[in-house]
Amino acid sequence: MTNVQFERIALIGIGLIGSSIARDIKELGLANEVVVSTRSPATLKRAEELGLGDRYTLSAAEAVEGADLVVVSVPVGASGEVASEIAPHLKAGAIVTDVGSTKASVIAQMQPHMPEHVHFIPGHPIAGTEKSGPDAGFPGLFRGRWCIFTPLPGADKAAIAKLRHFWETLGSNVDEMDAEHHDKVLAIVSHLPHIIAYNIVGTADDLETVTESEVIKYSASGFRDFTRLAASDPTMWRDVCLHNKDALLEMLARFSEDLAYLQRAIRWGEGDKLFELFTRTRAIRRSIVEAGQDVDAPDFGRHALDPKRP
Ligand code: NAP
Repeated sequence: MTNVQFERIALIGIGLIGSSIARDIKELGLANEVVVSTRSPATLKRAEELGLGDRYTLSAAEAVEGADLVVVSVPVGASGEVASEIAPHLKAGAIVTDVGSTKASVIAQMQPHMPEHVHFIPGHPIAGTEKSGPDAGFPGLFRGRWCIFTPLPGADKAAIAKLRHFWETLGSNVDEMDAEHHDKVLAIVSHLPHIIAYNIVGTADDLETVTESEVIKYSASGFRDFTRLAASDPTMWRDVCLHNKDALLEMLARFSEDLAYLQRAIRWGEGDKLFELFTRTRAIRRSIVEAGQDVDAPDFGRHALDPKRP
């Protein structure tokens, strides 16, 4: 029995996400041919050494020729440029999707270039690590994780179902919502936490009264957990901030107000307010573990989630 879902898949961008998809396609036998394309000769060479595809090219236009599924996995700020390059070469009936962390901006950048004869279905797998590049990917990254589609009104139902089947075969659960809603949800669950982490690690780095060696030595007391997020790819996160600006600014404003409330409670010794909040937040952690989005291990499930972690 064959598992083939697409005759030819083109992967544009072969970093953490693109290469994880490539590994799953290969392991599960989901395509007869995988064409890999990336911007730099060095990354393309590495992808070839890792055997991530069947054909390799620096030209995204060449890669998409004859492809039934095109997956764009580049920083969100580059999606418009990629769309304009591939558009004239897309096969009629092809499904074009992406994995970008912001959706309204990706749609605004890509949709105007998409020809009538293709199915453009924006997507976002809620899975990843702080690593980047083709070596960082691994099979099974998307297993048990959500993948959110933000299809445009009137999108072809059969094409959505086909792409849904693909992600479900990778082990994901698929949800659909509109792009603006996606951007708000992700602003609070992902983008704001990353901004806070970048900020806290930056603050520690700027302190004059505490030495760097002390910060590292005693990091297990909480700081360490922020450093993982703050080690995420600078290009990707610069683009996320610039391309989910409105939702992120709204969440930052809410966050600042809530922080001021905490500041006040600490200043005036209002222990009951602190205790009430800390009790409420503890319950959220429990719900996340119960929902299977993390495991209740002392390392916060990191080893269980990423087999490549030491
Ligand atoms: P990555 O590991 O840094 O890989 C990025 C890929 O995009 C590489 O192939 C790179 O090519 C290419 N690229 C970079 N800049 C480009 C440009 N200006 N034009 C064309 N290609 C370019 O990134 P990633 O983590 O896989 O992220 C890819 C996408 O997935 C992003 O949109 C991100 O928002 C989204 N995403 C990431 C995560 C995560 O946790 N990392 C999770 C979900 C979704 P070269 O190496 O050849 O330069």
